[in-house]
Amino acid sequence: MNAQRGKLSLIGCGPGAVDLLTLRAINHIREADLVLYDRLVEREVVDLIPPCTERLYVGKALGDGGIQQAGLNAAIADALTAGRHVARLKSGDPMVFGRASEEIAVAVNLHAEVEIVPGVTAALSAAADARIAVTERAEIQSFIVTTGRAADADAAPEWAKLLKPGVCIAFYMGVAEAWRIQSTLMAAGVPVSAPVNWVERAGRADMRKLESTLGRLALDAKQTGIANPAILFVRYPYSLATAESTRTVPAAG
Ligand code: SAH
Repeated sequence: MNAQRGKLSLIGCGPGAVDLLTLRAINHIREADLVLYDRLVEREVVDLIPPCTERLYVGKALGDGGIQQAGLNAAIADALTAGRHVARLKSGDPMVFGRASEEIAVAVNLHAEVEIVPGVTAALSAAADARIAVTERAEIQSFIVTTGRAADADAAPEWAKLLKPGVCIAFYMGVAEAWRIQSTLMAAGVPVSAPVNWVERAGRADMRKLESTLGRLALDAKQTGIANPAILFVRYPYSLATAESTRTVPAAG
C-alpha cells in the first residue's frame, strides 16, 4: 500500500445557496489540498475555497459524455497517488445522480481513503420551496426520485410503472423531457388532474415555481419558460385515485 495515502472527499454542496452547506462540507473545503468543482457548483460556494488552496474547474456540463468524466477521474487519481486530500464538490447530494460510484472506484482502486459528505439534494430543497410534503399521511406513502433522461436515451422510460396511487415522484433532469413524461403517464392512466409542480433554481434567491396538473404539464412549463436546473414533482394521492374510480360508472347489464 501507498505510504502517502491520499484521501477523496465527495462533498455535497446542496442546491447552490451557500447557507444550505453543512458545517462538515465547509470544514472539508478548508482542509483539502486540491478542490475540484464543476459548473453546477455556485460561485458563492467556490468562494469558500481558501485562496492558497489549489483548485481545478473541471467544467463538466450536464449530460455530456464520458471523455470529460474520464479526464476528471485521471486528475483525481494523480492527486491521490501523490498523497493529497482531494475535495470534489458536487451539487446537491453526491449520491443522487452524482456519478459518485465512478469517482469512489478510482479512490478505492488506489487504496485511498474515501469520505462522503451528504448534502441537501435538489428535490428536497425544491419540496421546501414549493411547500410540498413528499409523503403525506393517508395520501402519499412513497417518494421516488427518478431522471427524465436515462443513460440509454432509447430505453423505454419506467415512469408509468413507478407512478401508482400513493406515490410522489421527483424528476431530475426533466425539462427537456416534459412532454414525454406527461404523455407516458397519461397513457398509463394517471388522471390529468394529478398535481404537478416545477421548481427552478431551488434554494436560491432567484428560485421560480409553477403549479400545474398532469394534463398541462409540458404546455405550462413551456409557456413559463421553465429552464434547467429544475425539479418536477408529479403526485398521485390516494384520494385522486378513489375519486377517479367512483367517477367511472359501470356499464349497464
Ligand atoms: N446531485 C444533485 C443532482 C445532480 S443532477 C442533487 O442531489 O441535487 C442535475 C439535476 O439536478 C438538474 O438537471 C436538476 O434537475 C437538479 N437540480 C440541481 N440543482 C437544482 C436546483 N437548485 N433547483 C432545481 N433543480 C436542481
